[in-house]
Amino acid sequence: MKLTRFGHRQLLKFLYRRPLSVADIGPVVSFTFDDFPRTAYTAGGSILRQFGARGTFYAAPGLMGSSNGLGDQFHLDDLHCLIEDGHELGSHTFHHVSSLKTPLSVFLEEVREGRAAMEKLSGLAVSNNFAYPFGAVSAAAKRVVSREMLSCRSIFRGVNAPFADLNLLRANALYGDSDQLDLVRRLLDDNEQRKGWLIFYTHDVRENPSPYGCTPRLFESTVKSVFERRMPILSVREVLARKGRDERRSADGTKAAYVVPQSKSDAEVRLTGSQGTSVS
Ligand SMILES: [Zn+2]
Repeated sequence: MKLTRFGHRQLLKFLYRRPLSVADIGPVVSFTFDDFPRTAYTAGGSILRQFGARGTFYAAPGLMGSSNGLGDQFHLDDLHCLIEDGHELGSHTFHHVSSLKTPLSVFLEEVREGRAAMEKLSGLAVSNNFAYPFGAVSAAAKRVVSREMLSCRSIFRGVNAPFADLNLLRANALYGDSDQLDLVRRLLDDNEQRKGWLIFYTHDVRENPSPYGCTPRLFESTVKSVFERRMPILSVREVLARKGRDERRSADGTKAAYVVPQSKSDAEVRLTGSQGTSVS
């Protein structure tokens, strides 16, 4: 019997789960960028920094220095700059391949190589957080990639609450322009009520974005709304660190303790401080 797309998605939600309760840390919000185009960092990353927050950039090294419909893809320097800014660098396979169109063993190699190559190229620490290219997840990939990574992000919509499945984190597209703010508001309401973990993802952030990106206007308004609702904005790594899931593999493959800043993020300091919610 062939599963329908809906059946496949339903099955994936229940297979090979790694549940993590988020009730004690929610509501929190993460902004993530896939591939990633340069504007994700130059515009998206910069807006986050204006609010004292950090994002997660899932990069595929095979795209580095190239150009496509999303605009210019990241350069090596961008990786150094984003780490200096306190953002997180996650991985996204080497060649940006789909787990539904690639033999499992090849896909697993892609996952390993994607992360290892980025560390080798940049000399930077790449987190063990991963996003599936095209949001394409096979059941077999869900099973094997979970052994390699602290978390795997999907593009299944909705809020992660009261449990997040670390092998299939839900995430919501932040695409288009300000007319999408109603949808954003509904997601934020849901996240607030359920004390969950809401993850957004996008690609290019520019005035005339691709169908898979958004305008700086929409991005900034969304970040501002989260900020005004006093929900902490944290990278995926920062959320997991709060749950004590902060171990990572070092570049030579041995396990090493991941160094997570002990101080609260700037965003959180502002949120819990007495200065209200104004943004300078
Ligand atoms: Zn991608």
